Amino acid sequence: MKIQCFSKKNNEKPLFSFFVLSTILKKVVLKGLKIFEKKESGNFLTGNLSSKVLNYPEEGFFEKIQNFWRTNMIGTRFFQNYYIAFFFCGCLLLGALQPVFAQERKPLTLAPLPYEQSALEPFISSHTIGFHYGKHHAAYVDKANELLNGNPFERKSIEEIVRVTAGKPDQTALFNNAAQAWNHSFFWHCLRSKGGGKPEGRLGKMIDESFGSFEKFKDEFLSSGKTLFGSGWVWLVEDGGKLKIVRTANAETPLTTNQKPLFVVDVWEHAYYLDYQNRRVDFIKAILENLANWEFIASNL
Ligand code: FE
Repeated sequence: MKIQCFSKKNNEKPLFSFFVLSTILKKVVLKGLKIFEKKESGNFLTGNLSSKVLNYPEEGFFEKIQNFWRTNMIGTRFFQNYYIAFFFCGCLLLGALQPVFAQERKPLTLAPLPYEQSALEPFISSHTIGFHYGKHHAAYVDKANELLNGNPFERKSIEEIVRVTAGKPDQTALFNNAAQAWNHSFFWHCLRSKGGGKPEGRLGKMIDESFGSFEKFKDEFLSSGKTLFGSGWVWLVEDGGKLKIVRTANAETPLTTNQKPLFVVDVWEHAYYLDYQNRRVDFIKAILENLANWEFIASNL
């Protein structure tokens, strides 16, 4: 299942703003021309500017300007006055558009949690989720966006960004932040309130076939989390039709391999330290027994 963690909607903002500003400025310019025409009527061009520039319904705005320029402007006093007016309108237009073009692009968006911040209590506190999601996960998304600004991978999906930057020494920072952004989004979806227990159906059968029993799977998963040195992730993956437990260090992710990620537990200290201090195994056990979202996990098969 492709998780809905990120959107591209912010990319549309500059274009939208451009059209809004263009429309406003067009109205300002037309109004200005009408005022100018009134002021100048009687002392040049017989004063009927609006009939020449503004009242040709079959012509577009730019055609009107072009037509007017060709027939009236060059070599007249009108040219001298309106050249200055157009010059200032141009400056105004450029000035108004500058913040639009200078706006920082945000290719990735931090998606909302799929549940309330307190939904996983008492096993993961609202306080922990507040920091983990609101600070750590958000920081990875923000940093990835910063690094994506002007990057050739800017318009790729988050999954593609992770895959194309993996193993590239000059893209390490982008890989780390994009992969952490994806890993965390996947992690949130692997949890739910009133989850846990033993999965049934195809997933339950595959766990039994791959590990011998659900209890053996649990023991191996807990042991993998306990013995992972430093920061990282413990995953349940599908690999060639068989389920496996794999560990990745830091931001590494099975997305960059042929293995299909089904389930993950974040075992960085920031994931559990506020609630469990150094008892990492208790944290993993609480997830397996009370929070694992087996419906989502099975949907990844
Ligand atoms: Fe984390």
